[in-house]
Amino acid sequence: MLITVLQILVVLIFLVFLINLVLKITRKSRFIEPLPDHFPDLLRAHVRFYRELDDAGKKFFEQKMRHFFTEVRITGIGTDVEDIDQALIGAAAVIPVYAYKDWEYIDLHEVLLYPGAFSRDFDQVGYHRNVTGMVGSGPLQNVMILSKQALREGFINEESKSNSAIHEFAHLIDKMDGSLDGVPQIFLAKQNVEVWNKLVNDAILLMQQGRSDIDLYALTNKVEFFAVVTEYFFKRPDLLKHSHPELCAMMEQVFLNK
Ligand SMILES: [Zn+2]
Repeated sequence: MLITVLQILVVLIFLVFLINLVLKITRKSRFIEPLPDHFPDLLRAHVRFYRELDDAGKKFFEQKMRHFFTEVRITGIGTDVEDIDQALIGAAAVIPVYAYKDWEYIDLHEVLLYPGAFSRDFDQVGYHRNVTGMVGSGPLQNVMILSKQALREGFINEESKSNSAIHEFAHLIDKMDGSLDGVPQIFLAKQNVEVWNKLVNDAILLMQQGRSDIDLYALTNKVEFFAVVTEYFFKRPDLLKHSHPELCAMMEQVFLNK
């Protein structure tokens, strides 16, 4: 009888060991899973930021994307997540943090992809279908919601200053220092917070006087200002440099870790 109990125990311990081993291998293999072969082509065709990197930079970009996909699930709601959508979401996640080697969006677990714009209560039909992206709060704390249509437009139209997916990732970055306040403290040296605030106030004043080309949605509040200017900086850095040189130089410090 005693031997039987002992045997059962040994078998149980062995089973636990085996399960752990399998889990470990599975977890590890998710990290080394390569991107599908055609993803670099998709990125080259639709993502200027990627296209302008050298070969080593492109490899690094792909690694960061692969890592993002192992951490964050992408789920279609009423629409399929096609390869191009997955590649563009990964690109929008990587672009703002490309200069930061070990960056992780620790608060983000899932991106929900809706076909078009949605209202704040996620109703996809009816009035107020004007939201094209959102970082969740409360029960949706770890969720980002994007519109497929706006996601694609943001990348395919390379002349525009907008990219709704990058906008939402900018909100996440802003939020990660503990306060969603439009000040990217996580990337900003302490002594530069004051300079940042001054540059933002100057730009807001110019906007109010009709002397700025920043999208007026940035006047909503400073949180939106940061997200809108982040889109502008990554889409048309040449234009931003021309119209707001000091702000652009500060954005370079923030995002390019200069
Ligand atoms: Zn926003």
